[in-house]
Amino acid sequence: MDTNPCVKCGACCSYFRVEFYWREAEKNSEHQVPIKLTEDINDFKRGMKGTQEKNGNRCVALQGKVGKCVSCAIYTNRSTPCRRFQASYTDGKPNKRCDEARAAHGLKPLNRPERLTD
Ligand code: SF4
Ligand code: SF4
Repeated sequence: MDTNPCVKCGACCSYFRVEFYWREAEKNSEHQVPIKLTEDINDFKRGMKGTQEKNGNRCVALQGKVGKCVSCAIYTNRSTPCRRFQASYTDGKPNKRCDEARAAHGLKPLNRPERLTD
């Protein structure tokens, strides 16, 4: 059965900076990202806490152990960049940024057979 490989990964949530237009954390916005889990970046952007570090970057909303079993504590309220980020082969093509995040955590890139038979 083809399951979502992200539930056993979480590498991108523990590698990249996650920033978005500040209004996404407003109460009347579409996604309503919990503002207490975010921080000001500049006049236009907020970012997920924990993702702005140079070392030990890890989103505060990420639960579990990277590479084993993870979940997003604010999945239904996650920001646009989180919604747009795709695992390799979600659309039939590799995603270099997915591969990069996995490599940073010592995980092999997803490949098509793994994605289809996982
Ligand atoms: S908000 Fe959720 S999906 Fe986005 S980086 Fe954090 S843990 Fe990952
Ligand atoms: S690095 Fe790729 S496989 Fe891992 S959680 Fe992010 S999108 Fe999913």
